[in-house]
Amino acid sequence: MLGLMQQWPLLNHKIIDSAARQHGAREIVSRSVEGPIVRTTYAEARARALKVAQRLARDGLKRGDRIGTLAWNTARHLEAWYGIMGMGGVYHTLNPRLFPEQIAWIMNHAEDRALFVDLTFMPLVEKIAPLVKSLEKVIVLTDAAHMPESKLPNVVAFEDWLAEADGDFAWLEMDENEACGMCYTSGTTGDPKGVVYSHRSNVLHAMIACMPDSMGISSRDVILPVVPMFHANAWGLAQSAPMIGAKLVMPGGKMDGASIYELLDTEKVTFSAAVPTVWLMLLQHLEQNGLTLPHLSKVVIGGSACPRAMTEKFEKNYGVQVIHAWGMTEMSPLGTLATIKPNYADLEGDALLDIKQTQGYAPFGVEMKVTDDENRELPWDGKTFGRLKVRGPAVASSYFGGAGKEQFDADGWFDTGDVAHINANGYMQITDRAKDVIKSGGEWISTIDLENLAVGHPDIAEAAVIGVAHPKWDERPLLVVVRKPGKEPTREAILGFMEGKVAKWWMPDDVVFVDEIPHTATGKIQKTTLRDQFRDYHLP
Ligand code: ADP
Repeated sequence: MLGLMQQWPLLNHKIIDSAARQHGAREIVSRSVEGPIVRTTYAEARARALKVAQRLARDGLKRGDRIGTLAWNTARHLEAWYGIMGMGGVYHTLNPRLFPEQIAWIMNHAEDRALFVDLTFMPLVEKIAPLVKSLEKVIVLTDAAHMPESKLPNVVAFEDWLAEADGDFAWLEMDENEACGMCYTSGTTGDPKGVVYSHRSNVLHAMIACMPDSMGISSRDVILPVVPMFHANAWGLAQSAPMIGAKLVMPGGKMDGASIYELLDTEKVTFSAAVPTVWLMLLQHLEQNGLTLPHLSKVVIGGSACPRAMTEKFEKNYGVQVIHAWGMTEMSPLGTLATIKPNYADLEGDALLDIKQTQGYAPFGVEMKVTDDENRELPWDGKTFGRLKVRGPAVASSYFGGAGKEQFDADGWFDTGDVAHINANGYMQITDRAKDVIKSGGEWISTIDLENLAVGHPDIAEAAVIGVAHPKWDERPLLVVVRKPGKEPTREAILGFMEGKVAKWWMPDDVVFVDEIPHTATGKIQKTTLRDQFRDYHLP
């Protein structure tokens, strides 16, 4: 027997419809790329998104077409997203921090037909556009007065282009499983791979994100997504915030400590989300200027591991609750969040911090497990680590064009490429990426644990651990260190500091000092480059 309930497809434009109807006057505040702070509302955003959809349709863009965006978090970018989705298109966020050739490769692979671009990235687009065969039109997210000179054909100012539409347009009715968004993973190995979001996955992900023990956000919140819309969907906030009617504060292109502080303060932001690097800049700014955070109540920190000292500072010095989160582009991106279950409610001090330092547990809608190399499930005992696998309605089932098939198994599990353990209460802790973990004599050594330990040394600015070939053990750990300016710690001092804090056989065989450690476009340590650099290194 079937249930007798209505079919109400989970479509993204229903989010902006609801925001406009229920929270129409709620503000979206943007630091515009042109400079000034610009204020608009959900009602206006919906009206303008309808114009975007109408205009795209009039330009000949069709259902299923990919439309690139190379833009900061602003109201205009949001309007473009909802307009694209509402006419059946697929927004394709591009990461401007990639090399121009990589961006062109990705756009060609996705066959983007049009591109929305911020003024900041026009010089970049001048280089890329001629390389993208499918690209027909470039829409610059500005007005006529700010339009730059361009040699490209078919370049228009967003506001002029929009002014030609009256917004008398009906959202396309479609199947909730149709594509609505796309994002390529940065691909530290091999070519980038395209993740394709559906209307259904985006809506469900946004609902999961709002739940009290996930991000726990409501209409009363003022939300500042510092995490860019081009980095894993702004962690779903471009959907979650309008879904609940929270005020949105968009930081534009300025993510330094002073600029973020200014928005937190003047807009009375209560909730924000960003990678650790951004928070580091903010905390420095606060300390240098003796400032406080009276309005901010909660921050989500993820994308890479949140340093313990950061959680401590936010909570003790500023009274801001930290939620450490883990996820990936393939998961829309939320995977786990370290909120506190009742059986940990009485914990205090270091014991509580230990739990907050884990990557957290999976909310309803995300299933996870750890397995060994033979795909045998490992126990949730908080120490046995293995490959982390996930499934759920907002987890990728394959990549665009069928790349990376080996990451998906017949039972629907996606191999995250991360190595982790899970404790008896369901809290997961990342110990490595599968391609970085060191296999010494058949046993695994966590490079992340060693790095975290090393950076605890007061004279070390940054540390990376890689596996180097070893005749007897296959691989042994090598510690690569950047010293703090003016400090000269020795190899012996560093190893002495680490001794006794990890198993003896985990201890790095050697320490090398470098001026700089290479990073990827999303700020992560580029271990492939390091491994190349030290391929022929002879361990003592
Ligand atoms: P990119 O490599 O393009 O940044 P993602 O943003 O999808 O791609 O990165 C996902 C990966 O980032 C995860 O598989 C994991 O290795 C790492 N990661 C994300 N959040 C955390 C976290 N809280 N702690 C440790 N690693 C994390």
